[in-house]
Amino acid sequence: MNQSIRKAAVIGSGIMGSGIAAHLANVGIPCLLLDVVPTQLTEEETKKGLTPENPAVRSRLATSAIEKLSKIKPAPLYDPAFASRITPGNLEDHLPQIADVDWVIEVVVENLEVKQQLLKRVEQHWKPGTVVSSNTSGISINEMAAECGESFRKHFLGTHFFNPPRYMKLLEIIPGRDTEPELVARMKDFCERVLGKGVVIAKDTPNFIANRIGTYGLLVTLQEMLEKGFTVEEVDAVTGPAMGRPKSATFRTLDLVGLDTFVHVADNVRMNVENEHEQAVFTSPDVLTGMVARGWLGEKSGQGFYLKK
Ligand code: NAD
Repeated sequence: MNQSIRKAAVIGSGIMGSGIAAHLANVGIPCLLLDVVPTQLTEEETKKGLTPENPAVRSRLATSAIEKLSKIKPAPLYDPAFASRITPGNLEDHLPQIADVDWVIEVVVENLEVKQQLLKRVEQHWKPGTVVSSNTSGISINEMAAECGESFRKHFLGTHFFNPPRYMKLLEIIPGRDTEPELVARMKDFCERVLGKGVVIAKDTPNFIANRIGTYGLLVTLQEMLEKGFTVEEVDAVTGPAMGRPKSATFRTLDLVGLDTFVHVADNVRMNVENEHEQAVFTSPDVLTGMVARGWLGEKSGQGFYLKK
C-alpha cells in the first residue's frame, strides 16, 4: 500500500492541513497543499505593486503556511528541508492537479456545506482509484459525500488526525456507508506502518469517538469552572503537568485546537442529538462564543485563554 500512495494533495492549509502535509513530507510523500484564493491584498503585496491576479498572491495562503512550518514549535517537519516536498497552490488554478495524486485529504473549515461543495469540485477532477478522505472532527462522512457519485463514495472515508499531526499517535478512520472495506483495511495498514499512527476505526456518529467524549469533558469542565469558580490555571495545573501529562492541559489544548473549531465541533453534536439533556451539555457557554466573536481563537490568533508570547 505504501507504494500505491506516492503523491498526495491536502486541501486547506490551516493548522491541521499544513501539519498533515508536513507529516506526509516527513515520510517522503510529495504533497500539493491547496487553499482558497485570498480576497484581499496584504499591505506588503500592495507595496510591491502586485495585483490580485499575480500567481504568488493567488497561492499566498498555502505558501505562507509552508513558510510557517519551520517556525512552529514543536516542529512539524523532521527536517526543515523537507518543506520542499510540499508544493503550494490555490483551488481555482491548481485543483485539476489532484488527478495526478493517490490520496486527497480535505482539511478545510468544519462546516458541512463548505465540505460538501468542495467534495463535488474534487469529484470533477478525481481519478478513479484515488483515495479521498476528510479530516473532519465529527461531521457525518455519509452526509458530506451524499451528493457525490457511488464510485466516488466507495473511495471516500474519514481520516481524522489529531493536533499536532506529527506528534499525536491517534488517528480515527471512519468508513462511510459505501466505503469499500478493502480500502479501509489498506488505509489502516498504511497509516499505521507508514505514518506511524495508532488507528481506531470509528462509526459515523456525530464527533466519532474522541471528540464526542473530549468535547463533553471540556464543556462540563467549563460549566463546573463557571459555577464553582476554578481558574483556567488551576484546571490546567490539575489536568496537565501535575498529572504527569505535560502536553494535555485542558485550556492549553483548547488554545492549540482553536476556539472557533471547538465551538463548531461541539455544535455538531448539539445539532445532531434529540435528547434535551445532551443538547444542553453540548451547548458552548457564552464565555466561549464571546471569545470567538472577539477574534480570540487561541494560538492561531495570538489570544485565547492564554496570550501567545
Ligand atoms: P483552520 O481554521 O486552521 O484552517 C482552515 C483552512 O481552510 C484555512 O486555511 C481556510 O482558508 C481554508 N478554507 C476555508 N474555506 C475553504 C474552502 N471553501 N475551500 C478550501 N479551503 C478553505 O482549521 P483547522 O484547525 O486546520 O481545521 C481544519 C479541519 O480539521 C476541520 O474540519 C477541523 O474540524 C479538523 N480538525 C481540527 C483539529 C484542530 O485541533 N484544530 C484537530 C482535528 C481535526
